[in-house]
Amino acid sequence: MKNHNEQRSREIVPAVDENNIVPYEKWIVCFSDSRKKGIKLSYREFFAQGFYEAFDMVMTYAEKQNVDIRWFKAKRNCGGTLANYKFVKLESFCTYCNKRFNHEEPIPCNHVNCYSTFCSRHCMNDHIMLLHKNKA
Ligand SMILES: [Zn+2]
Ligand SMILES: [Zn+2]
Repeated sequence: MKNHNEQRSREIVPAVDENNIVPYEKWIVCFSDSRKKGIKLSYREFFAQGFYEAFDMVMTYAEKQNVDIRWFKAKRNCGGTLANYKFVKLESFCTYCNKRFNHEEPIPCNHVNCYSTFCSRHCMNDHIMLLHKNKA
């Protein structure tokens, strides 16, 4: 039974498509909310593969949240202050079910030295059962 468990643990590591040459990188987007008094800017960061995916993601988000896009660009192209600032995630990747999600705060694994994040408590619990349950 031990071997079986180890095999299942390996399956939840996100698959890497080696044929895809577009880099998966961090982007920063700046929104303004016209419903608020004055111009209220908010920044979010997210991962996307290339400009078109990034564009798609910020458009979807802006429509859903009813905010206007001021600009968005790859984090590596952002100047000093922005590049070092910690932003709230626009979208995150659930390492258990391999899906992207849009919550403000991903649920982190509460296990020491594990940096996985999840879309739901359910995914986190399943991940803990599979990966951490029999380990100290
Ligand atoms: Zn999930
Ligand atoms: Zn974990």
